[in-house]
Amino acid sequence: MVNTNQLKHQHSFTSNHVFNSIQQTSQILSIASAIGCIAHFIFIFLFLYLDQTTLAWINALSVSAWLITLWFNRIKRHDISIVIMSIEVLSHAFLATNLLGVDAGFHYYLWPMALLVMVIPFLSIACSTVIATFHLTAFVLLAIFCQTSIDTLEPYYSQLFILNIAGSSLPFIVIAAIYRSTYAKQYFLMVELAEKDELTQLFNRRFGLEALQYYVNQKDVNKAPVCISLVDVDHFKKVNDQLGHSKGDEILVKISNYLSKSMRETDISSRWGGEEFLFIFPNVTLSQIQQRIENICKEMPNHVFLESWDKTISCSFGLIQVQANETVEDALKRVDESLYQAKKNGRYQVVSGQ
Ligand code: GH3
Ligand code: MG
Ligand code: MG
Repeated sequence: MVNTNQLKHQHSFTSNHVFNSIQQTSQILSIASAIGCIAHFIFIFLFLYLDQTTLAWINALSVSAWLITLWFNRIKRHDISIVIMSIEVLSHAFLATNLLGVDAGFHYYLWPMALLVMVIPFLSIACSTVIATFHLTAFVLLAIFCQTSIDTLEPYYSQLFILNIAGSSLPFIVIAAIYRSTYAKQYFLMVELAEKDELTQLFNRRFGLEALQYYVNQKDVNKAPVCISLVDVDHFKKVNDQLGHSKGDEILVKISNYLSKSMRETDISSRWGGEEFLFIFPNVTLSQIQQRIENICKEMPNHVFLESWDKTISCSFGLIQVQANETVEDALKRVDESLYQAKKNGRYQVVSGQ
């Protein structure tokens, strides 16, 4: 049987993000167990009131079965828990529908159970599909073959039917709502993890490269100009060596905040790696952007500084306009050469490639 390990990798350590989603799914199952216990407990009294002692006893057994599922959920054996739930719902639907007839509507609980088996990721998809199909087949067979009804229950049939229809359909909304919110949370988390750099909160290299590919293609299609700038912090090793790595991180964050805030909303700011950044400026020519980038470069020491560090914190900039039919690789090579030239010329300056 497949358990939660199916959702994790083989290391003993699991990222908090992964763990949270497993924990959330396991909570859903625990809630289902608790609701199962309470619902069956209430039905004991309902059946006693309706003089259905056999069904009241069966319900007492069901409460124990749901308590057992609660315990299996506690020890994280959700696979066993969901199988017990399935067997309970199947046998209970079979007994109640045989004793009271289809008009009582107890076989409708097979529907939400099939849904729960399908959405809970603690069984393999094949296993879940087999169990869910079994539930739905049982529903159809009960609906066809159980036409009996008990006269003594006649006046209560419509109420019992409404109660069972409401009770068995409510889980659809609850399960859908839980899964929709989980999906939304995981989607936004996934986007953040895939696109953002953890330290600086700028876009990461993967996103920067994909965006560059996109704008370089757009340029060839729409003839819209695009400029890029590769930026490297000057003498950053000295900061690390003299102030320590954590102060170095603090400066990197300050630099990236200053740089990204100096850009327009349509510009893309990414951390290219270490103490290097790549900026993409869509829809501008080199002559339109050059002065702005030079100002950003010159102004940086006025905005980025540390009390404990009397030396200027600056960056060197390579800046180019991507040429017609130039590939991403060639553009990156050229902007890197401009940056190299800026370093060679003495740093703290912008060198624009032609
Ligand atoms: P240059 O002006 O020629 O670029 O000199 P530099 O000292 O900046 O260049 P070098 O490539 O020798 O050193 C870059 C340093 O940046 C080395 C590395 O430890 C540091 N660095 C890279 N990423 C990080 C980071 O995330 N945090 C910190 N604190 N330091 C980093
Ligand atoms: Mg560097
Ligand atoms: Mg550097």
